[in-house]
Amino acid sequence: MQYDVIVIGSGGAGIMAAIAAAQNGKKVLLLEKLSTIGAKLKASGGGKCNITNTLKLNEFLQYFGKNGRFIRDALTTFSSQDLREFLKEIGVPTHAPDGFRVFPTTHNSSTIIEALLQHLKKLNVEIKTNISATKILHKTNHVYGVATNQEDFFAPNVVIATGGKGYPMLGTTGDGYTLAQECGHTITKLYPAMLPLHTKEQWVNRLRANTIAKATLKIDLKKYKKLKAVGDLIFTKNGLRGPVILDFAREITPLLETHKEIPIVANLTQGMNENDALELLKKNSHKTVFETLTQVVPKELATIFCELSNITLEQKYKQLQGSSKEKLVKLLAWTPLTIIGDDGFEKAMVTRGGVNLKEIDPKTMQSKRINGLYFCGEVLDIDGACGGYNLQYCFSSGYLCGVNI
Ligand SMILES: Cc1cc2nc3c(=O)[nH]c(=O)nc-3n(C[C@H](O)[C@H](O)[C@H](O)COP(=O)(O)OP(=O)(O)OC[C@H]3O[C@@H](n4cnc5c(N)ncnc54)[C@H](O)[C@@H]3O)c2cc1C
Repeated sequence: MQYDVIVIGSGGAGIMAAIAAAQNGKKVLLLEKLSTIGAKLKASGGGKCNITNTLKLNEFLQYFGKNGRFIRDALTTFSSQDLREFLKEIGVPTHAPDGFRVFPTTHNSSTIIEALLQHLKKLNVEIKTNISATKILHKTNHVYGVATNQEDFFAPNVVIATGGKGYPMLGTTGDGYTLAQECGHTITKLYPAMLPLHTKEQWVNRLRANTIAKATLKIDLKKYKKLKAVGDLIFTKNGLRGPVILDFAREITPLLETHKEIPIVANLTQGMNENDALELLKKNSHKTVFETLTQVVPKELATIFCELSNITLEQKYKQLQGSSKEKLVKLLAWTPLTIIGDDGFEKAMVTRGGVNLKEIDPKTMQSKRINGLYFCGEVLDIDGACGGYNLQYCFSSGYLCGVNI
């Protein structure tokens, strides 16, 4: 069977590439190795699917770091507003309850998957599930099809939209990197991003499941002092997780390779500085220090702050030695922690690194190595922050790729 386009991978990027190409009259085959389409899309945002956000383009791009420039064309061609209008047209209205993060009004990712599936069918996109692409068929510098674990399919255009290698149980085992390499592409170093981090400090275990709202984290290394993240922090049995960690982790995991231990500091006291801390303690000097601390942090953390400053739970501020006072005030402003590892690709919501952007034309998403070969979504060396950035990029790059075919 001859097609105009074969898309490998049915995530947000692949689905949108298939839709955009089919809307332009192309005969499209969509290949997916799992039994259903859009498995990661379904899991996104804890099943609620934070599909995009309301930031304007220039600000939006900043959240992708230095590679953000590469996706300007994709985001201009298919913006967050375009995505929301498209979803509305296919029966999925969206809203931004906090004015920033955009969700389907149902807060259920299945609504999106079902609507996309119906739209693909309406456009006569042929969908094959439970099938794995194993090789891109190409002659010198032109693609002509895809070999799979079942049979070969032929088309003059092939889109690799196989995602990264995080959360492999959702089908993303890094196949796209091998397919790309076999076509002469290079892959930049891959790191797990957006995942829980492990700390050397074992006291975190005693705070397990406690959430600290609006924690601020900074890397305590001279060269990286500017790296900072703010958001909710959750303690785990061996480290940290939560929205602030998801954003912070993508900066930390590459550093873990060169620094076995990464010192960080955390403000766990709603932004109190040393002066604020001192004032609070003095104002409550008739109470035990522990009691005072429970006004600003959970009691488990108050206990740990006391222990780390050599203060008993019965001691009042005025009974403390100078060294304990000094230590406590410093801890309340910036608590030191040491990152020593992470949960690995198994728990990485996003992969940092991927197909080298220098080898892709950002205006079309076509390979500069092989004609008719396209890439979109997470398989490329692009990753954004937490907050709908990644899905929007995937849809936009898929769209750009589909319309250019
Ligand atoms: C738990 C979780 C929550 C997330 N929440 C959000 C969120 O709320 N907002 C946000 O913006 N981002 C979120 N992300 C990130 C976002 O989901 C991804 O960045 C995005 O889905 C990637 O889309 P993609 O189309 O590039 O690839 P994917 O969605 O990963 O799709 C790739 C598809 O290719 C298939 N495939 C792979 N190899 C082959 C092969 N050889 N043959 C055939 N098929 C193949 C896979 O099975 C998969 O279905 C989340 C990620 C996770 C894991």
